[in-house]
Order: sequence, then C-alpha cells, then structure tokens
Amino acid sequence: MYFDDTFIEKVKSQTDIISIISEYTNLIKKGQSYVGRCPFHNEKTPSFFVNAEKQMYYCFGCGVGGNVMTFIMQKENFTFVEAIEDLANKANIPLELSDNKPHNSIDNSKKDLIFDLYKKAARYYYYNLKHNAPQYALDYIKFRKLDSQTIKTFGIGYAPTQYNSLYKYFKEINIDDKILVESGLCLQSETKGVMYDRFSNRLIFPIFSTTKKVIAFGGRVFGNENPKYLNSADSLIFNKSNNLYGLNLAKQSKYEYYILVEGYMDVIA
Ligand SMILES: [Zn+2]
Repeated sequence: MYFDDTFIEKVKSQTDIISIISEYTNLIKKGQSYVGRCPFHNEKTPSFFVNAEKQMYYCFGCGVGGNVMTFIMQKENFTFVEAIEDLANKANIPLELSDNKPHNSIDNSKKDLIFDLYKKAARYYYYNLKHNAPQYALDYIKFRKLDSQTIKTFGIGYAPTQYNSLYKYFKEINIDDKILVESGLCLQSETKGVMYDRFSNRLIFPIFSTTKKVIAFGGRVFGNENPKYLNSADSLIFNKSNNLYGLNLAKQSKYEYYILVEGYMDVIA
C-alpha cells in the first residue's frame, strides 16, 4: 500500500500537531510554544515543548523530537503508512491509494553500503575517543560534563588529528576510494587527488535516523577555530536542508526522519 506525495502533503497540511498531541498530554500555551508533561517519559515538571508554527515537538527531558508524523509513529508504534492512514482518518480525508510504488531512482545497494560505512566510521570515532584521545580532548569532555554513559548513549567519538586516519582505516578493510568520496566521509583534493578525511581533530556527534542508523556526523572543534561545528555533506542517505528537522518529506528518503541534533551540546546538556 502506498500514498503519493501530494496525498501525504494534503494530510500534513490539514493536521494540527497541537490537537494531535493534546490527545496524549495536556498542553498549555506559553509564549510562542505549548508546554506539557512529556508523553514519552515520566516527569513531574513539564519539559515537552510543541511549536505550532513549525509543527514540531521537542522534549528537553529525554531528547525526543520531530513532527506530527514521527510523533504518531513513535507513540503508536506505527509504520509511516499507518501514520498517514491514522492522521487522514482524524482529519476526515478519504484515503487515496497509489498503485505505483514510491518512485525510487536510488541504487539501494549503494545506499546500504553507505549506511554501513557510516556505522563503521561511528565505531571508529567512538573507539578513538575511548583509546586514542589526547589529553585536551579528554579535558574538554570533562569540562562539558559528558560522562561515559552520555558518550555511550549518543555514540560520541573523536576524529584524530591526522588528516587521513579514517581513510587509512577504510583502506585496511579494502573500501574503494570512489564510495568513500560519495559517502562524504572522505574527500579528494582537486589538484593532487590526495584523499583526506572530512573530520579531523574534532569531537564527533553521530546524527541518527529514527530507525537508529547513523546517517551523518557533526564535528565540534576543541578550541575556538572556525567553523565551530562542521556537518556531513548531503549524501544518498542524508539531506540536511530537507530533513534535519523532519519538517519535509524528502523525495529521496521518504521514510527517514532525523533526531534533532543542531546545537549538539544543547541537546545533551
Ligand atoms: Zn521526554
């Protein structure tokens, strides 16, 4: 069963996140936002915020966040299609099924390969934080009060100072240069064709899809260098402008939604 993009947009535009979430928790208007007790974790003091204008929610207690679609999916354990159906019913929109499978111009095997590279890279960075991080990196972690449980939960890692350490790791396991460039994890210099890592000497924050796959990284410097935060470039599995806040359904990855991670430290603190 499939719905086409026009129908999905119609359902979204006729759905109000405030009234949907109000079925699960009592929301009170406070300034620009609505605030209530989080429907995802137990709390006495409300730390669950819903923004009507952006049609987004975020919990400062447990870190869940997203749009009305992710809310229904998380809360009811619905698939994407079930969530659309449910929201369409609530908005009294008759279902319009599409016979066509979702348009899929993406080479799925390549996509899977890139997912796998991000998983390997995340493990590599995490390992390096545990075993190869220099003192100033450890001091920084201490300064930001990131304990080992937080580091584990968020999969925080360390990209070594060397310009090509991740690249060398991938070469040891025989990964092709072309796919490394395509993944955005490594880059190739235009003049000499030298391969180098996107991230070096940074604290690494994996960005996860709601299906718990690593789809990108954010890297923070330890000092005051610029840019303070560096994000992964767009790739087959990540489209920052369309998807980071789960605001839009990107054609390329209709079923992927992203956990809010902009301002990584704000999320973790
Ligand atoms: Zn919560």
